[in-house]
Amino acid sequence: MKIDISKSEAREKIDAFFAREEFSVEEARKIKRLAMKFKIRLGDYKKLFCKKCLSKLKGRTRFSGGYKTVVCKKCGERNRFKMDRQRS
Ligand SMILES: [Zn+2]
Repeated sequence: MKIDISKSEAREKIDAFFAREEFSVEEARKIKRLAMKFKIRLGDYKKLFCKKCLSKLKGRTRFSGGYKTVVCKKCGERNRFKMDRQRS
């Protein structure tokens, strides 16, 4: 895939991608590559796909010790995310 777009265009593409309800593994891979190329941080978007199989992350969600664990329905990978704590 040849990429000759600007960083803001890349960011728009990424935002549009994650606004979608469904996406394929191949598309997720492309978006990750795009983000890497432009050094765009995916931030919260990372929580939307499984870190192992890159499919849309759906499954059992558990909260414990400041972490959110989502078990991937597809590959069984336990995706752990640190929860942002509101500081007061
Ligand atoms: Zn998975």
